[in-house]
Amino acid sequence: MKRLIKLGLLSLAASFFSVNASASCSATLEANDMMQFNQKTLSFSKDCKEISIELKHTGKLPAKTMGHNIVVVDSANIQAVATDGMSAGIANQYVKPGDERVYGFSKIIGGGETTTLTFKTDKLKVGGDYAFFCSFPGHWAIMKGKLEFK
Ligand code: ZN
Repeated sequence: MKRLIKLGLLSLAASFFSVNASASCSATLEANDMMQFNQKTLSFSKDCKEISIELKHTGKLPAKTMGHNIVVVDSANIQAVATDGMSAGIANQYVKPGDERVYGFSKIIGGGETTTLTFKTDKLKVGGDYAFFCSFPGHWAIMKGKLEFK
């Protein structure tokens, strides 16, 4: 009898962990009218073939004045990608078309809107120095964080 209970607990634990592993391939991030993301670090398992980040703009201001997006790059490339993105304009979601330094980016959204960025991880290296940031002009200096792939 005791043995059966023990086995049952073990399989329960195993199913819990497998659910947990798949959950870590997605994350939710919030942005507001104060030009802030609500998280400094997003962590994903190296087992994720795809990463999915849902961005919620919890503010009220429209996209043309307080737009936000998520762009994933090497940490060292944030400023350069943001500068090129500014020239590309809102029609291109403030990301230079075909920019190879960008692993993934979402569209620009305004207050009350939600968007999801999904991208493949085949170009990411385990333990690499990655970042997410908002490429709306002037936001990158504050709106950025670390993206861990480990
Ligand atoms: Zn922003």
